[in-house]
Amino acid sequence: MIVVDDIHKHFGGFHAVDGASLTIREGSITGLIGPNGAGKTTLFNVIAGLLPPTSGRVTMHGEDITGLPPHALFHKGLLRTFQIAHEFHSMTVRENLMMVPGNQSGETLWNAWFRRGMIASEEVALRRKSDEVLDFLTIAHLADEKAGNLSGGQKKLLELGRTMMVDARIVFLDEVGAGVNRTLLMTIADAILRLNRERGYTFVVIEHDMDFIGKLCDPVICMAEGRVLAEGTLEEIKANEQVIEAYLGT
Ligand code: ADP
Repeated sequence: MIVVDDIHKHFGGFHAVDGASLTIREGSITGLIGPNGAGKTTLFNVIAGLLPPTSGRVTMHGEDITGLPPHALFHKGLLRTFQIAHEFHSMTVRENLMMVPGNQSGETLWNAWFRRGMIASEEVALRRKSDEVLDFLTIAHLADEKAGNLSGGQKKLLELGRTMMVDARIVFLDEVGAGVNRTLLMTIADAILRLNRERGYTFVVIEHDMDFIGKLCDPVICMAEGRVLAEGTLEEIKANEQVIEAYLGT
């Protein structure tokens, strides 16, 4: 689905990504692991259009998507989740979901004045969709809670929920488990699995929690020093000498 070919990303003289190549298979949940500073987040940001690469190519279904901005990738169904920005903390969980799909007709003054009926019916559809998303993620009870009051794990579920408001095909998740308690982490893992199996989502996940990676990810790709070191099942990766060395070296 996605082919990353010899991506380099330099910050001044520093090579954060130094010739990374990998393939993401459609329908997979691919885990990206590696010691801190390996270049995982930088590579994510290059693929998701947030950083232009210094060189290299990214294709999606054979089409060159290198350097396309996030909104163009969004329309192709490629999304990277983001922390809920501070300015949205005072909005409710449902409102955060309802504002995700872009081009709503309520956005232009013309429509606001002259097409109120249409806006109202769109709002009903969005509300129904957001309720369905909240049910799927088992957080319907939080619909009217302010996003700022959610725990870390609940915020992660909301981030995932935002990808369900549009027709996502492939979702990049960065550090899902950071600061999330185990029970909620397993709820998130379960939601990811169900989105994968029932809705055909492809996922690429950066995560340090090996239980989480083991439960979800096949294959697992290990990066170190800006390059891909190894790819395989988590068991294969754990037994790989180069991988062990890379982790011990940090
Ligand atoms: P990982 O996600 O694997 O921990 P990162 O991609 O965050 O690794 O970082 C890789 C390296 O690139 C790190 O040494 C980091 O300090 C450096 N780096 C990341 N972003 C920048 C930037 N904007 N400017 C300079 N160096 C950066």
